[in-house]
Amino acid sequence: MYLGTLRFNNVNKVYLGRVHAVKDLSFTVDDREFLAILGPSGSGKSSTLRLIAGLERVTKGEIYINDRLVTDLSPQERNIAMSFENFGLYPNLCVYDNLAYPLRIRKMSPEKVDKRVREIAEVLGIIDQLNKLPAELSSGQKQRVSIGRALVRRPELTIMDEPLSHVDSGMRVHLRREIKRIHRELGNTTILVTHDQLEAMAMADRILVIHEGVLQQLGTPDELYYHPKNEFVAGFIGTPPMNFLECIIKSEDGHPVLFVNGSKIDVSSTDAKLLERYNKDRLKIGIRPSDILISVNPQPDYGIEANVYIMEPLGEKMIITVTVSSERLKIETDPDVRFDINQRVWLHFKKERIHFFDLDTTMRIN
Ligand code: ADP
Ligand code: MG
Repeated sequence: MYLGTLRFNNVNKVYLGRVHAVKDLSFTVDDREFLAILGPSGSGKSSTLRLIAGLERVTKGEIYINDRLVTDLSPQERNIAMSFENFGLYPNLCVYDNLAYPLRIRKMSPEKVDKRVREIAEVLGIIDQLNKLPAELSSGQKQRVSIGRALVRRPELTIMDEPLSHVDSGMRVHLRREIKRIHRELGNTTILVTHDQLEAMAMADRILVIHEGVLQQLGTPDELYYHPKNEFVAGFIGTPPMNFLECIIKSEDGHPVLFVNGSKIDVSSTDAKLLERYNKDRLKIGIRPSDILISVNPQPDYGIEANVYIMEPLGEKMIITVTVSSERLKIETDPDVRFDINQRVWLHFKKERIHFFDLDTTMRIN
């Protein structure tokens, strides 16, 4: 029985002596884990994956697979299955032979090869395409063959670079579930690269958020959503994204009080203690659209005055954009809520759901 663990120890990748694509990256992936590497375009995701595969040389640092140092080993010596965004299929082999290839080179019997190929083709919805050449397929179908080829041999470590980026939306949701289900069934340690936070949240056990080559946070979907470590993670996870507002901290009767544009913001007693320890007079608060309540009448708890800017009915919910002085905030409500454009409204931020960030470092204040 193979294990599928991976360890990065201060790994750096510098291209052409000047593009520092991966900076001092250290993390561990456990056996059987499903890790998503998430970040915007150009953040170093593909570079990280190619370093794991051995397709790029590490500039500095070490990579271990199953506690074996592989930093200078060739891709073949690493026993990893890959699916890449640009598919990497053999153009002169039909779909069946593309899927069978990784099994045949491992000398599997033809009966077993046939069984495996048909199973994976069934799961991925390409069972009718087995006799076609890659050139005869749509890009979504090619991508599925590429995923199939990575999974067919049931490797201990599977890596996938944006495996669903060319698949249309209905099929994408289906394949998300299937890849997750195959992972549960096979227990193959899986590392998936994506720029789509919903995909990462829906599929992965843990998510590694990377930005400009630097690890921002590594945690479960819940940890990232409820306790983002910095403003970047807070703004990257969640749709619509978290709202940010600069606040002034004033002292009232010896206790810290937060103000946004002259309106007072209530904080929980835990957060009040946190603010007492904080020795600056400004900070940034983050509040998710679903953690803001909105009212047409001024009420004791609804301290922040705002104007309705635009209403977006999304079927199952309503997204309301309001302006608070020069800032725009997004609020998520039930779908049947209706306001007029420019109507004056009052807001309440759910106390327990306010996040605090340092203005200089952008780090979470805890
Ligand atoms: P992502 O997959 O997150 O979009 P990449 O890892 O592909 O990001 O790229 C990270 C950075 O490294 C980018 O600035 C990109 O332009 C640069 N880069 C990637 N590959 C090369 C290469 N072969 N040569 C030079 N620069 C590269
Ligand atoms: Mg990429």
